[in-house]
Amino acid sequence: MGSTNKVELDIEGMSCEDCALHVEKALQGIPGVKSARVPGWESGRAVLTLSDAVEAGILEQTVREAGYTATIVEDPVTMDEEQGQSLTPGTEGNDSQDLMVIGAGSAGFAAAIRAAELGFRVTMVEAGTIGGTCVNVGCVPSKTLIRSVEQVHRAGSSPFRGVSTRTERLDWKEVINQKDELVARLRGSKYTDVLSAYPQITYLAGRARLVGGNNVEVDGRTYQPRRIILATGASPWVPSIPGLEGLDYLTSTTAMESIEVPGTLIVVGANAVGLEMAQLFVRAGSDVTLVELEERIAPNEDEEASSSLRTYLVAEGIRVETGFRSERVEKTTIGVVLHGTQQKRSVLIEAERLLVATGRRPNTEGLGLEPAGIQTGPKGEVLVDENLKTSNPSVYAAGDVTGRDMFVYVAAYAGALASDNALGGKRRVYDTAHIPRVIFTDPQMAAAGLTEEQARSSGHEVRVTVLPMDQVPQALAARDMRGMVKLVADRETDRLLGAHIVAPPAGEMIQVAVMALRFGLKIQDLRDTMFPYLTGVEAIKLAALTFEKDIAKLSCCAG
Ligand SMILES: Cc1cc2nc3c(=O)[nH]c(=O)nc-3n(C[C@H](O)[C@H](O)[C@H](O)COP(=O)(O)OP(=O)(O)OC[C@H]3O[C@@H](n4cnc5c(N)ncnc54)[C@H](O)[C@@H]3O)c2cc1C
Repeated sequence: MGSTNKVELDIEGMSCEDCALHVEKALQGIPGVKSARVPGWESGRAVLTLSDAVEAGILEQTVREAGYTATIVEDPVTMDEEQGQSLTPGTEGNDSQDLMVIGAGSAGFAAAIRAAELGFRVTMVEAGTIGGTCVNVGCVPSKTLIRSVEQVHRAGSSPFRGVSTRTERLDWKEVINQKDELVARLRGSKYTDVLSAYPQITYLAGRARLVGGNNVEVDGRTYQPRRIILATGASPWVPSIPGLEGLDYLTSTTAMESIEVPGTLIVVGANAVGLEMAQLFVRAGSDVTLVELEERIAPNEDEEASSSLRTYLVAEGIRVETGFRSERVEKTTIGVVLHGTQQKRSVLIEAERLLVATGRRPNTEGLGLEPAGIQTGPKGEVLVDENLKTSNPSVYAAGDVTGRDMFVYVAAYAGALASDNALGGKRRVYDTAHIPRVIFTDPQMAAAGLTEEQARSSGHEVRVTVLPMDQVPQALAARDMRGMVKLVADRETDRLLGAHIVAPPAGEMIQVAVMALRFGLKIQDLRDTMFPYLTGVEAIKLAALTFEKDIAKLSCCAG
């Protein structure tokens, strides 16, 4: 290795902080190694300072003996090991900024805050409303509206004998006002006010456009930040159904702003947003038809979970039409008619309003990606490597703009990771192996890891169990036995590969599976762990037990 005394190793096989410590310790024990540091297991990397020439083979062999694989990095990112930063923060008075973050949503905020914490000066540019999708038109407004109609729905239908119920009145205009108040409050406390805690972050209102190299133009002024993070999010995507362009259709954004509840509503698209909107409006009083091109609702999720959820939505009065190809729409005196085909038959559905929930597409149009040498995919998504670096080495991207894993917590995780990698000299790897996925219907649908089908097609020999919620004491006590828990495990290793839950508290329950997946737990570990009696999450332990035992033979507390 000549006279070089700084070396980086790519390490494969680390899956937790203990692995990182283990590798560090092994390398530190080699004669001639002055220091060895693994900057977090997710970095997949070790940085060494050598006092003498040390054979590459010794380093690789030592790591191999510790149980991992190491390869010398031929062309490492210059990493100032003392500071742990590849860039030195700019000095006061210097006009150029270290980082420009484009987009002030969840990914943008997480990126800007992490950069500020690392000591860098950041400009965050926002073309619309501070806070982006989640707080303004996404998670927050949708979940508070869903909860409000749930109150009315539950009040009108108690499952307990001897408990009298009353029919609640729903004042939709008031519900919308209250939603707006919550959105404004959270936008203030979680975004606007947070900025004042970080004097290193400059907020700039305006539309940013890359104009070649690292130059960014905002409202006629050009900036030259040393690094850029694209966090411009995504917007509702509307398919090219003839007739739609001239129609006053709804999206999730406009539907949650409207103070009118349509008498009849067609929702096009049965993924998370479409499903949540369909149930929100049926509970608010609309007569809802939900149409989906694929053969089942939530088509990316487990088949049994999908058909379980469908049963409950249909029971609530939603007309669900799957395998439905929308052909064209027309205005009518009532509102709109949707022409489609289903199993080769022509079908016609008429309603007052039509809500398009067919997915979201990255906001990259007009962003000037081509002159900056940034490649995009077929849906306009910014293409990134495992460290979230784009094809321009000074530009990183995080959140919905990358076109994947469109959840707010993933956007925040990615934003911080992009800053660590762009500025902090790290090579943290974007790890999506155990992202929780929740659809906030009632019952909720939640999942993590692989579906049975994905597990099989990725070469696992699987074991599967399905536990109906009517076997779960908490569900029996609450007299709400809707749903099921399905666990998918690897037959050979007994490791959990995926969990799929339909249950009223599925979003809370799934986190146990997320932890199990993250730390490589086995079904036996779930069986051996105590779960509190009469909680929904106990269903996961019961499901784990059913791999070996007949549920009918279990006594209290899963014994
Ligand atoms: C109805 C709905 C419900 C949802 N519910 C949930 C949920 O319950 N849980 C969950 O985890 N996720 C949910 N999501 C998804 C979640 O909201 C998004 O994944 C997340 O907010 C994306 O964050 P982001 O930072 O990538 O993008 P955004 O929050 O969209 O931020 C991007 C920002 O960039 C700005 N911008 C765009 N172009 C430019 C430009 N050229 N210059 C300057 N600024 C620009 C935009 O104005 C925007 O403010 C929901 C989404 C929707 C639509």
